Amino acid sequence: MAVYGGIEAGGTKFVCAVASNKDDFRDEIRFPTTTPDETLSQAIDFFQKHHAREPLAAIGVACFGPVDPNPASPTFGYITTTPKPHWAHTDVVGRLKATLHLPVGFDTDVNGAALGEHRWGAAQGLDTFVYLTIGTGLGGGAMVNGRMLHGLMHAEMGHMRIPHDLTRDPYPGWCSYHGDCWEGLAAGPAIEGRWQTKGQNLPVDHPAWALEAHYLALGVANIIVTLSPQRIIMGGGVMDQQQIFPMLRQEVQRLLNGYVQKPEIMDAIDAYIVPPALGNRAGVLGAIALAQDAAR
Ligand code: ADP
Ligand code: ZN
Repeated sequence: MAVYGGIEAGGTKFVCAVASNKDDFRDEIRFPTTTPDETLSQAIDFFQKHHAREPLAAIGVACFGPVDPNPASPTFGYITTTPKPHWAHTDVVGRLKATLHLPVGFDTDVNGAALGEHRWGAAQGLDTFVYLTIGTGLGGGAMVNGRMLHGLMHAEMGHMRIPHDLTRDPYPGWCSYHGDCWEGLAAGPAIEGRWQTKGQNLPVDHPAWALEAHYLALGVANIIVTLSPQRIIMGGGVMDQQQIFPMLRQEVQRLLNGYVQKPEIMDAIDAYIVPPALGNRAGVLGAIALAQDAAR
């Protein structure tokens, strides 16, 4: 059975794993994201050790961004314009290829997680769906008609503009580009900025969660009418607050107001807006799925 390397390359931490599939993890390590030299060397060392014992068929990287995921582009496999210090214009795929001499699959962190959920999780059998993460940032990946959505660059759903109800919520938003875009109003740092404490410290009946459900529903309703997904998977630290889900589903139905007349939304929305089936393994399993595809 072929064995693959996967990297969930996050802005805070890297998770590297060796696995043949979802149920056969051989090894996993985590380390903080520091500089590209130090962090990529740690990943390369880990895979080289494994490769010497048991050859890897390919490596997959689900990467924080923005990135260049277009294989035809001269900067394919780069992290491009990230504000994260040291990481702008980093050739991630090039460095891995030069040292490991293996095929490397590469996509955004959220497209990777979406692919993992498609292969092994909550999106099996679908051809058009969206994976959203609501954590330190807010990002979305999509499969459309069976292919990961890239287009001009890749989707940046977290930066869509949503109505900001200033009478109810004077918090200005924290996005450095847009202030009160979706991420600026609804990712973890917005909750912390608005209520002066981290989301994990707020009680489950705090008004923060109804407001959060409202903001999340605005973006989700926009995604539903834009991409026509067959399901929406929502993960990330903020979605650990499970009380958000019922409020969010009801708010999506209220906002759509009967326009999308499909049973998935009208009658069975509990199975339409769902948490990731792979939990916090979605990212690294997505990287393994990218490696499987690169090996083909
Ligand atoms: P990252 O996005 O860095 O990979 P997370 O998905 O855990 O990691 O997101 C971290 C953000 O989510 C922080 O803003 C944190 O306050 C918030 N968060 C993490 N856990 C919870 C929780 N249980 N409830 C609410 N917010 C949380
Ligand atoms: Zn923004």
